[in-house]
Amino acid sequence: MQWIRLKEEALAAGGCRVVGRLPEHAVADSTAGPGAGGRGAVFFSIGQGRVRLPIADEAPLTLVAYPDGRGVLHCGGEEIEGRIEPVGLHCPRQAFITVSPVCRYRCRYCSVPLREGRRRSIEECVDLVSKVRARIDAIALTSGILESIEEESDYVCQVVRALTEFGLPIGVSIFPAADTPERLHALGVREVKFNLETSTPALFEQHCPGLPYDGVLDALASSVTLFGRGRVFSNVIVGLGESWDELSGCIDLLVGMGVVPVLRPLNPVAGCIGYGRPGTVLLDRAARHLQARLREAGFDGGGALTMCGACTGCDIAPWRDL
Ligand code: SF4
Repeated sequence: MQWIRLKEEALAAGGCRVVGRLPEHAVADSTAGPGAGGRGAVFFSIGQGRVRLPIADEAPLTLVAYPDGRGVLHCGGEEIEGRIEPVGLHCPRQAFITVSPVCRYRCRYCSVPLREGRRRSIEECVDLVSKVRARIDAIALTSGILESIEEESDYVCQVVRALTEFGLPIGVSIFPAADTPERLHALGVREVKFNLETSTPALFEQHCPGLPYDGVLDALASSVTLFGRGRVFSNVIVGLGESWDELSGCIDLLVGMGVVPVLRPLNPVAGCIGYGRPGTVLLDRAARHLQARLREAGFDGGGALTMCGACTGCDIAPWRDL
């Protein structure tokens, strides 16, 4: 089976059953975003390709794990051999920390507001990175919104300042305040990801009540000027009820701005329980449309050092998977 087929099948399946014995550091906890909660996930890789597989006993795929890092994925009647990667924090090769695993907003696709988390202190964040330093190349930060967009941005900037002591590239993905791009850039952050999440302003209003769509767009535009094309990313969830024209239009809009869209298959949790996962045909079509647009525009996420652009576990990333 081709890698792209395997990854599309795995993403559409939404997880795998694990049998055998996993190697050390193989299970990633997830405390932020649409994948928050659950029993954790493992990362299955072949060559440059990597897919994140949430562990779920009822899943249609089975991963046979060996303590030396080998893994055999049973998918579509085939047995495919690959590697099970160790994680730093949340994903391989990175310490990806959720600074405030809580949120006062109620985006419908996200289960973070349903969890009872507490903000991590700056010392805790430094300590977390120290513990995994030997197996990471980058640091990434994300966060819910504990008090306000501005207060969270202030706090994350303080965390960034403390983490610069590690001398690793840092990426940040938070809901941006007006001055967030400038402040992060001034602190030496290498990449940012501000998530548009939905394909249209109307879907944003429906799924992210109370949050400003234009605030994200403005932050993305100013970030491209500061960080450069290929260093600014934005998640767009596939499967929230958007039409093909709306999804492709959103991809075109972002690429036209110099932003790399991260096409994230919907994980139907929280207020989206009852939605279906997007199928392989749609995921493939969207990824190929994105690849064509990025080629025309002359940039992509292939140089990403941090966050999802570097990890690529949850999405079809054309620069790695096609
Ligand atoms: S692609 Fe992004 S959200 Fe998914 S595991 Fe990797 S870093 Fe986490």
